[in-house]
Amino acid sequence: MDRKIKRIGILTSGGDAPGMNPAIRAVVRSCIYMGVECIGIRRGYSGLINGDVIPLDDKSVNGLVTRGGTILYTARCPEFMTDDGLQRAVKTCKYIGIDCIIAIGGDGTFRGARDLSVWGVPVMGIPGSIDNDIACTEYSIGFDTACNTAIEAIDRLRDTMQSHERCSVVEVMGRKAGHIALYVGIAAGATAVLVPEQELDLDRDVIEKIRRARLSGRTHFMIIVAEGVGSAVDVASYIREHTGLDPRVTVLGHVQRGGSPTARDRVTASRMGHYAVKCLLEGRVNRAIVTKNGDITDIDIEEAVEMKKGLQSSMVECLDTLTGV
Ligand code: ADP
Repeated sequence: MDRKIKRIGILTSGGDAPGMNPAIRAVVRSCIYMGVECIGIRRGYSGLINGDVIPLDDKSVNGLVTRGGTILYTARCPEFMTDDGLQRAVKTCKYIGIDCIIAIGGDGTFRGARDLSVWGVPVMGIPGSIDNDIACTEYSIGFDTACNTAIEAIDRLRDTMQSHERCSVVEVMGRKAGHIALYVGIAAGATAVLVPEQELDLDRDVIEKIRRARLSGRTHFMIIVAEGVGSAVDVASYIREHTGLDPRVTVLGHVQRGGSPTARDRVTASRMGHYAVKCLLEGRVNRAIVTKNGDITDIDIEEAVEMKKGLQSSMVECLDTLTGV
């Protein structure tokens, strides 16, 4: 790269995820260590358009490794997706003297970063999404915490279901992707799991599984529904009509986004934040930080946003086997 990086801007955008704060801390500490200034941009791309920035130093990130959410706030910004909004964001970078942007967020955030790079602002993407649906990386910061939060809640539900010999329908997050549902379904010992990636057949995927579970002597049933599949209440009504059970519905909702990050998320976020700064200072820009075979590496951001991700087939096979008897 022909110019030296002196000032890095960092923002969090789109859906928040536990681990964003440890990632911010790692970026700021790595910048200080490597002699670079770090500027926080608040409220994602909206802050970039409006020049909503704050200097970040060691004190600003004290204690962040344990904290969920994001101290930089996050937002969705449709204006950034217009030519005018994008150009205003580019102008802010020039005006403030930001040499590159580290953007922490999901698929949409990565697309926004790619657009900035097209306009000459060097970027680096760090994957943060509880849904783990960012195609270029095996793992996104926040997924482990979200799954553990869901599992803890479901374990509690199971205790009371067991006592009353009940059926529970639990809706977990995942509008377009069923990674949380699949992972949680296996970990919580679900009777059936419904994900948006698979065609919905309630008779085959729920009623038949409950029937088999009953035949083998089980007296309580846990059905996990990813929010993108449809209403958990409708699934419960169908079960009521076709089995005579009286299912209770629990929608876990936004609790899955919060909480102190797990060890996995703290470590991954810290490593990705450190790696991002190192990568930039080595002159590699317009990259996405990813995990591959369990290690941290980087790939071209343009290539990253073109990739597609489905459910891991070995996980689906495992779940089908365990719920099929
Ligand atoms: P996430 O990053 O969690 O996937 P969003 O999809 O809401 O969340 O994206 C966050 C922000 O990124 C959007 O509000 C918008 O400013 C920007 N963005 C999203 N999609 C695009 C796109 N296709 N092109 C440019 N910017 C985008």
